[in-house]
Amino acid sequence: MHDGVDATELPSGITPLGSQVFAIDTRMAGYPGITSSYLIRTERPCVIEVGTAGSAEVLRDGLAALGVEARDLATIVVTHIHLDHAGGVGDIARMFPAAEIVVHERGARHLADPTRLMRSARMVWGDRLDMLFGEMRPTEASRIRSVAETGEVDLGAGRRLVTHYSPGHAKHHVGLVDSATGDLYVGDALGVYNPHTGDVRPATPPPDFDFDAALASLRLFSDIAPQRLMFSHFGAVSTVEETITRAGEELHAWVETVRSAHADTADLDHAVAMVRDHVLGRYRAMPADASAEAAKVMDLLSGVESNVAGITHWLDRVAVDQRRSAAEGTD
Ligand SMILES: [Zn+2]
Repeated sequence: MHDGVDATELPSGITPLGSQVFAIDTRMAGYPGITSSYLIRTERPCVIEVGTAGSAEVLRDGLAALGVEARDLATIVVTHIHLDHAGGVGDIARMFPAAEIVVHERGARHLADPTRLMRSARMVWGDRLDMLFGEMRPTEASRIRSVAETGEVDLGAGRRLVTHYSPGHAKHHVGLVDSATGDLYVGDALGVYNPHTGDVRPATPPPDFDFDAALASLRLFSDIAPQRLMFSHFGAVSTVEETITRAGEELHAWVETVRSAHADTADLDHAVAMVRDHVLGRYRAMPADASAEAAKVMDLLSGVESNVAGITHWLDRVAVDQRRSAAEGTD
């Protein structure tokens, strides 16, 4: 592997971020600027997020351009098992046969046997699944290492990646801190960052979204006091406190709007309309030169319908829990 980096010699879609960290655009569904993978190119090279199955060759070529060949990669970590982050894990595991695959314990079995994961994804996405994600292939269970509340990835020469359980967006979500740089890989815990406008939009999909857990994960990330936030969608952000605060404000805005709509009627369309009328005005329009197609795909990943459905699902769960504990209280 080469040490020096001349950014002008790198293929487009690869961004050097210092300290041997590189962002590799996975060109999700063929579009730039949607899902980023990251390489930490140390003695024990590590990839964070692999993107979709459809992106596996893009990622392999990006790694090759950075001097990481098939036997070199030591670790593949995914922040959670959603297909835009982990869909390509089975393919990448085959391409890089020496790599260990690290994932939260609640996601591990789905990487080994993606049948259920793919079945429910197909129910949500229908025919769009193949265009957006492709099919996740199974990963040998013996190569998967699961982490719990916290965990560690050895990057070599004393450098480590520490995992922190951070549910809310998904119940199998972790954030990762690089001991050498203080960079925090945030997955989708803060939502989706738009590098064109600087806005953060929440990502609150069913069935796991949990508002209280999401807020607790934001507090955890704030307490870590990272140097930078490394978004999977999309890019590195240095305005750390401001961005975490904004992510919390956005979550509140969406949840409060859906809560009040949901109090009027259980009709999802009503809540969707309320969000469109009262929340979307918080976000700046995309600049004219941004790709309209990429914006559309980005919109699918944190779409209004999906976010509203996730928040509604959570509100209903909380209501059931409250009724249950009230009933137990009167026993
Ligand atoms: Zn995502």
